[in-house]
Amino acid sequence: MATTAALTALSEEERLVRDNVYEFADREIRQLVREMDEHAKIPRPLIDKLFALGVMGIEIPERYGGGGASFFHAVLAVEALSRVDPSIAVLVDVQNTLVVNAFLRWGTDEQKQVYLPRLASASVGAYALSEAGSGSDAFAMASRAARHAGGEWVLNGRKLWITNALEADVFLVFANADPAAGHRGVTAFVVERGTIGLTVGKKEDKIRASSTCELILEDCRVPAANVLGEAGKGYKVAIETLNEGRIGIGAQMIGLARGALDHAIKYTREREQFGKPIASFQAVQHQIARAATELEAARLLVYNAARLRDAGQPFLTEAAMCKIFASEVAERITSLAVNLYGGYGFVKDYPVEKLYRDAKIGQIYEGTSNLQLQTIAKQLLG
Ligand SMILES: Cc1cc2nc3c(=O)[nH]c(=O)nc-3n(C[C@H](O)[C@H](O)[C@H](O)COP(=O)(O)OP(=O)(O)OC[C@H]3O[C@@H](n4cnc5c(N)ncnc54)[C@H](O)[C@@H]3O)c2cc1C
Repeated sequence: MATTAALTALSEEERLVRDNVYEFADREIRQLVREMDEHAKIPRPLIDKLFALGVMGIEIPERYGGGGASFFHAVLAVEALSRVDPSIAVLVDVQNTLVVNAFLRWGTDEQKQVYLPRLASASVGAYALSEAGSGSDAFAMASRAARHAGGEWVLNGRKLWITNALEADVFLVFANADPAAGHRGVTAFVVERGTIGLTVGKKEDKIRASSTCELILEDCRVPAANVLGEAGKGYKVAIETLNEGRIGIGAQMIGLARGALDHAIKYTREREQFGKPIASFQAVQHQIARAATELEAARLLVYNAARLRDAGQPFLTEAAMCKIFASEVAERITSLAVNLYGGYGFVKDYPVEKLYRDAKIGQIYEGTSNLQLQTIAKQLLG
């Protein structure tokens, strides 16, 4: 485990970034949250505004049209968006911490020149690793890649649970090119929407605006130049990006917990029972104080993991810790917010039941809590 002192305080510039993104979310997103949740769709004009704001390519170097900022900035943006709507936060999170990150780390100069300007300005990305039979055991995937004459690859298989699939133009798709080699056959491919043989399948019905779909590959032909990294090194692409992605999930969770706490504080000051605001009851005050304390602890874990990553120091254990802790705190705080709203907390007219639903996913995607505990235990016990 890294022993560097935690550098968790925000600089003036970082605070400004976070506040600007939050102000945008408050102004442009908040009014749409209920409608997006009901229609399970993010309107394209809103995605265009996210590109214009610069949050879709935060770490992309300026020479490719991106923000040229750090991973930590991406984490701050995801946190700020999630405070208003976790569905938008996950779209931005997958774009930055998984897709853009994979290109920055593994892309050839040519791939960077082609894809990074697009990802910074108009193209949404998706990351397609999971399948029906392979979730936690991701490299047991059944999708196959076969190399044909001329170097072209032909992909076949079905991916499941692919975030952003409905909106995406650029898909990172993992398939095994040499099953006999096990995980060392896994290869990452860049597949563009519109490629013959690539179909976005069934959209999961999970009452959230963020799209999660099946991705079908049927004799999907991909040029040799679209291998990301090397053939057989896809498992490294996946592991390295997901290690960082987990910090993004932590950011989603602290953002939505903060949103739920904001609502709970406002409501308990307004709602009167027994002739006074319910915030005047000490039991309620203590519940809110405990929630704020837990949230601060989770935030420090998330910021610390992101800072370590930017400093080039080991962060694997810290990333696992921040994901598991922040997602559990988010579940507890959103649950408390529902309780503090009483019966109103249980209905869709008020915002907290949605945040309670949204919190649950933090313990599942990009590695379940059990898998995070496994990572931490391995570090401690060998
Ligand atoms: C809304 C949503 C969005 C998603 N987005 C994406 C995406 O964009 N791209 C993508 O590739 N995938 C995505 N996923 C898939 C997600 O990463 C997987 O669902 C997750 O990794 C768990 O896999 P699984 O669902 O197959 O569960 P399983 O792996 O079957 O796990 C079921 C249970 O068994 C436990 N378990 C499994 N193995 C072990 C073990 N060795 N030790 C202890 N316990 C274990 C798990 O902790 C869990 O509790 C998404 C999923 C959802 C629901």
